[in-house]
Amino acid sequence: MTSLYLHIPFCLRKCLYCAFSSRVAPSALHGRYVDALMCEIDFLQHHPSVQDPLKTLFIGGGTPTCIPSDQLTSIIDHCRNTFGFSAGAEISVEANPGTVDEGYCESLLMAGVNRLSMGVQSFFDEELKILGRLHTSSEAEGAILAAKRAGIANINIDLMYGLPGQTPKSWVLSLEKALSLTPQHLSLYQLMVEEGTPFQVMDGKSELLLPVEDEILEMDEITRELTENSGIIQYETSNYAIEGKQCLHNINYWENLDYLAAGAAAVSFIKGVREKRTTDPNHYIKQISTGKSVIVEEEQLTMEESFRETVIMGLRLKRGVSTKNLLTRYGLTPEKHYGSILTRLQHLGMVEQTPSHLKITDKGWPLSNQIMAELV
Ligand code: SF4
Repeated sequence: MTSLYLHIPFCLRKCLYCAFSSRVAPSALHGRYVDALMCEIDFLQHHPSVQDPLKTLFIGGGTPTCIPSDQLTSIIDHCRNTFGFSAGAEISVEANPGTVDEGYCESLLMAGVNRLSMGVQSFFDEELKILGRLHTSSEAEGAILAAKRAGIANINIDLMYGLPGQTPKSWVLSLEKALSLTPQHLSLYQLMVEEGTPFQVMDGKSELLLPVEDEILEMDEITRELTENSGIIQYETSNYAIEGKQCLHNINYWENLDYLAAGAAAVSFIKGVREKRTTDPNHYIKQISTGKSVIVEEEQLTMEESFRETVIMGLRLKRGVSTKNLLTRYGLTPEKHYGSILTRLQHLGMVEQTPSHLKITDKGWPLSNQIMAELV
């Protein structure tokens, strides 16, 4: 499986909670960045691990759709000309309300995009305002409807819970609104106050009215009920999909398999080596234009580290981690590696070994963070 991640590090405005690598930049920089990105794609063409056409392409950010649609589609065309796409390849683009209309989505569709991930976060204007989002709830709804009218048949909606001022009741309404738009996929993330964000400063001054733990647990329960009732099935810690619409690109990531990457701040993982690229788009462009490396950090995992990482990432999936694949890849089984720690978790009914996978049980699922902390 060949997967490629491309990063577009631009947004129209920085949200107050955001720790992603993204910035507001003049449109002149967008064009120069796209040119540099295409140069890096050319360079990747000769990577020894590229033998097959791409099975997944994921363009994330930032807000990829804050650059003009012709720039974005030229990147996709360039990938097609450089690597080719396999039959049924998944081509995903992240978008934000306020940056896409029907025409924009049609251009993406014509370029081969078959999955659009819309960052909505909340269907409450008050919550959106607190987050520093640029759009309103009705603009988010309008963007999703526009994508549907354009013919995009696989839409993800990103929502967040645990927001300042959010209550279980407002979470019900946000989630119900999202479900009423019949997305094929939902990503539901709990807000984390990240280092270096304005939210961290506000939290330090006790200015964020975050929900208490009981309310978070209630929101988790609401999520379970509402998603189950609407046939959208949880397949990963934060991800839900109707049958057949699970995100293949991210499954590749959770299975800790190789993926290529290009762009400022993009991280690739090939044969146990993780390479991080410079986060500054100006530095990225300069390095590319002078033929220098954009890699600023390289991490080579030992087999044991890689094994543990594969187990932890795989346990995020509801189906768990394939023990056969672990044996083939590392010559190791979880029993052999973890010994009594695993036996204890099994006796407590937190994890179970099916004929093919090691997985967290329904009983263990609410405690998955603690379970993973024991196995890390
Ligand atoms: S739109 Fe997304 S990437 Fe951009 S600032 Fe907001 S949270 Fe960060």
